[in-house]
Amino acid sequence: MSTTAELDLVPPSSALAPGSESLRTEVRAFLAGERAAGRLVPRCDVWLSGWDEDFSRELGRRGWLGMTLPGAYGGHDRTALDRYVVTEELLAAGAPVAAHWIADRQIGPSLLRFGTEYQKCRYLPGIAAGECYFGIGMSEPDSGSDLASVRTKATRADGGWRLTGTKVWTSGAHHAHAFFALARSAPAEDRNRHVGLSQFIVELDSPGVTVRPIHLLTGAHHFNEVLLEDVFVPDELVLGEVGAGWHQVTSELAYERSGPERFLSTFPLLAALVGELAGRADDLGTAGLRDLGALVSRVWTLRRLSLGIAASLSSGAAADVPAALVKDLGTRYENEVIDAARLLVDIPPDPGAAPGFARLLADAVLHAPGFTLRGGTNEILRGVVARGLGLR
Ligand SMILES: Cc1cc2nc3c(=O)[nH]c(=O)nc-3n(C[C@H](O)[C@H](O)[C@H](O)COP(=O)(O)OP(=O)(O)OC[C@H]3O[C@@H](n4cnc5c(N)ncnc54)[C@H](O)[C@@H]3O)c2cc1C
Repeated sequence: MSTTAELDLVPPSSALAPGSESLRTEVRAFLAGERAAGRLVPRCDVWLSGWDEDFSRELGRRGWLGMTLPGAYGGHDRTALDRYVVTEELLAAGAPVAAHWIADRQIGPSLLRFGTEYQKCRYLPGIAAGECYFGIGMSEPDSGSDLASVRTKATRADGGWRLTGTKVWTSGAHHAHAFFALARSAPAEDRNRHVGLSQFIVELDSPGVTVRPIHLLTGAHHFNEVLLEDVFVPDELVLGEVGAGWHQVTSELAYERSGPERFLSTFPLLAALVGELAGRADDLGTAGLRDLGALVSRVWTLRRLSLGIAASLSSGAAADVPAALVKDLGTRYENEVIDAARLLVDIPPDPGAAPGFARLLADAVLHAPGFTLRGGTNEILRGVVARGLGLR
């Protein structure tokens, strides 16, 4: 393993500009007002389950969505680190951000990088306004980790393409306006399955699209199966280059994997845990204090890693390897917060409880199985990191 590979694996952490702190104060004041008005009740895992279009539109009005997009497309020409401040405050507060999350996080930047002028004008202003929502059309019933094996087929048609296949685990597809579907547009080559894949913007109200709910054990509905039956996608909605889907999708995954949502899904629970234990150092004992201290200090480390990647992505550098690293470490951390909450406080999880520790613990426990799966499983991410280190 070369020292250079090790040193290059994680970009240096990036300091926030002084202006970012006044932005943080502004966001915190807004969130405090929402809490006081009863419009914000903190929950865990809000970026998957907290769908609230009014809240998203309000963030859009305040200029806190599409922050890094150019003003010409309704964005705000801010830095990735300014966006980071807003997103981490929203997640830490447990605010309902699911409606716009995917569009703001990865669809906007991908459209900016690979989209045509027509596509940018069609979608980016709505994304920045918190009014246009997207899903991710990657996984299929037999293609999750092995994404290159997708079988959704794109066939050339007059003026566009016809897509047939099944996507699965598609978060938010029952509310979203569109998703990027990864499909096979040409046969794979013998030794390279990454060729012949393309990305298509599929508007989910198109004829031939059926969205079927997949319910969690609790009965909650966040993700779906999406059937594509001979769905026509016009040429103007092909994303980027035909055949370059693999390259595009891996660049999208760096945005998907590296952000603060990969270690803050259970932060509202951590905050409630600290609240429950305040003033009880004697009951906790040395081991309990040590565990709690370790959890709090690790969130700072993860944040530094993730901030470095945000800066690196905004400079156009490839960040798929460090993003995989942050997601692996961060999602395991999210689960450890739950373990600590169960061990250190004798309050059982209760989804029907009033807002507070018991309900946050229930949210976290019920959503935990997805943390290390969504966006790529930890085993797969470790493979990406091993390759980045030159071990594979
Ligand atoms: C809450 C949630 C939301 C999601 N939202 C979306 C979404 O919006 N859009 C979307 O496209 N997808 C979404 N997904 C799907 C997610 O990306 C996949 O579940 C994930 O990539 C794993 O694929 P799989 O479920 O097919 O599992 P598999 O790929 O079948 O993996 C099963 C197990 O085998 C292990 N495994 C597989 N291959 C290897 C290997 N080579 N080496 C070692 N271990 C291996 C895996 O780590 C895993 O533990 C979501 C998933 C969840 C849980």
